[in-house]
Amino acid sequence: MKRLDRAISKGIKKETHPKAVVKCYPTYVQDLPEGNETGKYLALDIGESVSNFRVLMINFTTEGCDMLSEIYPIAQPLLNRPGVELFDYVAQCLADFVHKYHTGKEKLELGLSFSFPVNQTALNEGVLVKWTKGFNCAGVVGRDVVTMLREAVDRQQKVNIKIVALLNDSTGCLVSCAYKHQDCKIGVIIDSGFNACYVEKSDNVTTFSNVNNKPFVIVNTEWGAFGEDGRLDFLLTEFDWALGTTTGGWNLPNFERMVAGTYLGELVRVIMKKLTRERLILNGTGSKQLFTTGIITTEDVITVVTSAKGNLSICRKFLYERLGLPHATTEDCIDFNYICTLVAMRSAHLVSAGVACLVNRTSFNPITVGLDGSLYMNHPLYHDWIQAKVPALLKSPRELKLVLSQYGRGRGAAFLSAVCAKELVREKK
Ligand code: BGC
Ligand code: MG
Repeated sequence: MKRLDRAISKGIKKETHPKAVVKCYPTYVQDLPEGNETGKYLALDIGESVSNFRVLMINFTTEGCDMLSEIYPIAQPLLNRPGVELFDYVAQCLADFVHKYHTGKEKLELGLSFSFPVNQTALNEGVLVKWTKGFNCAGVVGRDVVTMLREAVDRQQKVNIKIVALLNDSTGCLVSCAYKHQDCKIGVIIDSGFNACYVEKSDNVTTFSNVNNKPFVIVNTEWGAFGEDGRLDFLLTEFDWALGTTTGGWNLPNFERMVAGTYLGELVRVIMKKLTRERLILNGTGSKQLFTTGIITTEDVITVVTSAKGNLSICRKFLYERLGLPHATTEDCIDFNYICTLVAMRSAHLVSAGVACLVNRTSFNPITVGLDGSLYMNHPLYHDWIQAKVPALLKSPRELKLVLSQYGRGRGAAFLSAVCAKELVREKK
């Protein structure tokens, strides 16, 4: 926690930012929803997974909000094609969506939730720093993604929209959570990737020129990279290192690799492999599957833990059928389940340390933390582990609430667009 705290301080200070590992990008978001937003807004959510993206339309009324959304598949080859093709495809789906659901003539405002490290230069402008999570489209890194989307939308020539906000999914999580919980100051995503953002005093963020003179700004920590300079080495196990060597393409061990969904299944496999080789489990006999990278997914880890609460039959079935280990004994099933639990619990405890670090940096009290992402949502024990751990790590007692971000992925982008619209009206007055 001490090291992470220092890394964040380095990220938000102008002089140390260029060399900082935890980049802490200012999001330009300085206003949160107050629950009284109105109007119809569009949102795009790109980057939750490599296989699809979402389009949403949200209508805010005085009674609350209702939503329409659709998920569009991303064909695998697109991930490695030039970015223009990806944006053209997105714009085409967006046009279809608007024609299908928007009957009115008025121009719709859109918020783009983009779950990758982006260096923002305005609320609706930001340059992709690097792709993560298996996306690898040429010609996007170093470019403003809003411009790329706008150009693609213009090429469609048939949709009347304006892109008013660009935000990270962690920011979206915080923003949508704040609609209901006004004291939400931290947003955390625990998904295929791992990230957090938090509300910091503008004066502390010297990388940010606070032209509007507002007291706070949300900082997108991009703390997944924490540890890439060796600061987390004291916590790394041989399995964390083995993960890097078995899958050449992956980056250095870091915070994200110890926590996020992309990696937990593979960690379990690497541990199983080693224990088998040492003849500690499975009577020392593995299988082709057990020695195949990527065969265990995080969904599998979640399923095993969920089923083992009642009995071991799902666990056994998994070892027999998916891992080709018909000789697995009941003892092996118990061990396998134990490994899955430990790997997920370490992840939850590292998240807790991160959350406590952010809470300790601020003085908000009461304070709510909004969390989202499939690992957090689907693992039956994950929330309870965090809930039990964070209070023990706080410097001083706080009135702290951990809540599942109420409105789900992508909605934050629409919320933010609504907040922007309201601010514009205010400025005009
Ligand atoms: C990305 C973040 C994102 C997180 C969760 C990470 O890989 O760098 O921008 O917020 O995943 O989706
Ligand atoms: Mg994700």
